[in-house]
Amino acid sequence: MKGVPHREDREGMEREVSCARCDAICCRLTVVLDPEDQVPGHLTTRTERGLAVMARDEDGWCVAVDPLRMCCTIYGQRPAVCRKFSMGGPYCREIRATHHGQLRRGIPLTMY
Ligand code: SF4
Ligand code: SF4
Repeated sequence: MKGVPHREDREGMEREVSCARCDAICCRLTVVLDPEDQVPGHLTTRTERGLAVMARDEDGWCVAVDPLRMCCTIYGQRPAVCRKFSMGGPYCREIRATHHGQLRRGIPLTMY
């Protein structure tokens, strides 16, 4: 999930979307693993329906997120679906809009 900065129009103002100023909101989505993914097993789990997914912590973040820097600790080994997620793309903007104003571990999410 991470990538090149993207500019978007928002309420008539151009704002830049950047992973560097985002608390890894997309890393709260369910990440379904491909059989080819090389993610360490202790970071994964299975859903009730048997799908292999990234495990999440009690606050909903993927367990591969570094909680201090809010970045991926397995970036080089991240799942295929994470590689396809584009910063500033429709899904990125949707999840940012959905969680705008939500609190993270007592700290307001950084939304620009
Ligand atoms: S939601 Fe978008 S801006 Fe935030 S970390 Fe994910 S890809 Fe980057
Ligand atoms: S594997 Fe990395 S990029 Fe993918 S959801 Fe987890 S922390 Fe985010």
